[in-house]
Amino acid sequence: MKILQSWIAGVWTGTEAQQVLHSAIDGSAIYASHAEALDFGAALTYARQTGLKNLLALDFQQRAAILRTLAKYLTEHKEELYAISSHTGATRSDSWIDIEGGAGTVFAYASIGTNEFPSGNVVHEGPAMPLGKQGHFSGTHILVPRQGVAVHINAFNFPVWGLLEKFAPSFLAGMPCIVKPATATSYLTEALVRQIHASGLLPEGSLQLVIGSTGNLLDLLEETDVVTFTGSAATAAQLKVHPNIVRRSIPFNAEADSLNCAILGPDIEAGDEELDLYVKEVVREMTAKAGQKCTAIRRAMVPAAQLDAVAEKIRSRLEKTIVGDPRLDGVRMGPLASRAQQHDVLASIEQLAAGNQIICGGTVPAQMQGEGLEQGAFVSPTLIVCRQPMENSAVHEIEAFGPVTTLMPYQDMQEALVLAAKGCGSLVATLVTKDPHIAAMAIPHIAARHGRLMILNAESAPESTGHGSPLPQLKHGGPGRAGGGEELGGSRAVKHYLQRAAVQGSPTMLAAVTAEHVRGAALLESDIHPFRRYFEDLQIGMSLLTHRRTVSEADIVAFGGLSGDFFYMHFDEIAAKESPFGKRIAHGYFVLSAAAGLFVSPAPGPVLANYGLDTLRFIKPVGIGDTIRARLTCKRKIDRQKKDAKGVGQGVVAWDVEVTNQDNELVASYDILTLVAKKQA
Ligand code: NDP
Repeated sequence: MKILQSWIAGVWTGTEAQQVLHSAIDGSAIYASHAEALDFGAALTYARQTGLKNLLALDFQQRAAILRTLAKYLTEHKEELYAISSHTGATRSDSWIDIEGGAGTVFAYASIGTNEFPSGNVVHEGPAMPLGKQGHFSGTHILVPRQGVAVHINAFNFPVWGLLEKFAPSFLAGMPCIVKPATATSYLTEALVRQIHASGLLPEGSLQLVIGSTGNLLDLLEETDVVTFTGSAATAAQLKVHPNIVRRSIPFNAEADSLNCAILGPDIEAGDEELDLYVKEVVREMTAKAGQKCTAIRRAMVPAAQLDAVAEKIRSRLEKTIVGDPRLDGVRMGPLASRAQQHDVLASIEQLAAGNQIICGGTVPAQMQGEGLEQGAFVSPTLIVCRQPMENSAVHEIEAFGPVTTLMPYQDMQEALVLAAKGCGSLVATLVTKDPHIAAMAIPHIAARHGRLMILNAESAPESTGHGSPLPQLKHGGPGRAGGGEELGGSRAVKHYLQRAAVQGSPTMLAAVTAEHVRGAALLESDIHPFRRYFEDLQIGMSLLTHRRTVSEADIVAFGGLSGDFFYMHFDEIAAKESPFGKRIAHGYFVLSAAAGLFVSPAPGPVLANYGLDTLRFIKPVGIGDTIRARLTCKRKIDRQKKDAKGVGQGVVAWDVEVTNQDNELVASYDILTLVAKKQA
């Protein structure tokens, strides 16, 4: 029996056994947590002095690059984790969700970091807005690393994904992490952290692991720190009012129990493909990870007339589910993670069954595939029918964290919405419907109490990622009983680990702080055209004011001929006179094209490509005889550490463009996005 160790303050700690951990498959003792108490003061000092320093020596782009390499490393070493994962009760496909889903989330955050975050450690949430009439005083928002430590307390059901989905965004945000997995399956998390440690990819101090109790860790946290929690609503409620967390206003994000629902729309009839899709989705959610997913469907709501037919379809599918040793081919559902979970789930089934009907399951399976499974933590897939769901509160309150779903009828869609709301806040709801009107009516109601909503029909099903799968790009977390927290959701997750501040001052000061040109800030004008400078030599604020060009009728006619745009505003003297502008005006796209003609430096040079425009606005019309000019200013530089096919390094440069008329009025405003070459080594 191997004794698990914590990785604290740069040392693997633990030699004495404390709690014995058993294989979920056969009950054999496989690991033990360690008995030694941990010095959390030392852990926090190490995180603050070593981890934080190392992380903030890097910028968002560099941390994103580390995440990408780490995700590759974990993918290459995944089989070691699969071998251990089966002891948690997971089949190969269950483990895939945890292990490859975890690495996939790290990959996703690597891309989010590269594509959406700056070089440097200040995120500008612009645009800056003028606060005074003369343009000398402006305001904006920035997001900065909190300069604290993230403590992540995780549930037993996703020992790998659970760590990685919280670690990736907090690492990107520059926070060292102290991670505490649930003890029951902490052996898999320990194996993951040993892999990460062996990779040597993370800056020292960025990740520490706690096996067992968190001791006095929460007492020692400071106002710059963050706590995230996944587990039961009871523990969440206890920890979020920890006196030190309350006193110091330490952000506490909770993902707790959830009575997720799936509603079969009133428009679905026997014979519709959607009916089978609904049944498949419910069965998949009951059996994947043996129902131990916080997002699994716990309440299935169907039109009253369909209740018995749906119950029969689900029962017949569940009956074919082969339960047994998750390591064997053909086994679709393994045991729960531990005997304690088995005990809890069987007790919850007993409570749910009171006054209701167990259609199938409800016990330890009579038949299982495999040998020596008597001491395993198995529970049969269990379908309960509750015929009076408006009167029965237990089915909306008790979360049996296993392969258990309650099927219930509704009379009309209004009643279905009331039933969905009885979960008092859940992570996810699925609505199966063919009718966009039903979706448009129901989804906003359901969304008030759910964190994610999936609309399933024959069109979306072939590509559906499933009711139960949180995605890195989309928010995970629900209101009320589900904890009131929010994780994932693309860059939102990273921003949860950053501190937002409003900043006021002169545009020059704001540009210096945000590392982004702010209109009105001091400009750097030089004789060298900014398009002739390499990435390294460009500075924020380098600017070019072009020569002028008077727009003629010939320009409008020529542009109309080239583009085929003969809109009356440009070509019909009478209609244009009656328009709000009172005269013919130039095409907005002509103004854009003419501005490009004014500011480009035509000969080959470091600017490699123009890949788009942002924030384009045509502010004033340009009429025949108006004279325009452009100001081009280097606004933002991002070094994504990329090279082209020939090995030449390049960076992203955004340029602020202001096109003005003869009265110095802004007529068009936008950012151009370019790739600019670095100097060749
Ligand atoms: P718990 O709430 O008991 O545990 C969750 C995590 O919190 C574990 O890491 C646990 O550690 C830790 N923990 C417990 N008490 C404390 C404490 N006082 N201080 C610091 N950390 C603490 O949930 P379980 O994992 O036991 O699961 C119980 C129920 O939670 C399930 O049956 C299910 O209903 C729900 N659940 C919800 C999930 C979700 O994602 N929404 C996921 C998993 C479970 P340790 O293991 O060492 O006790």
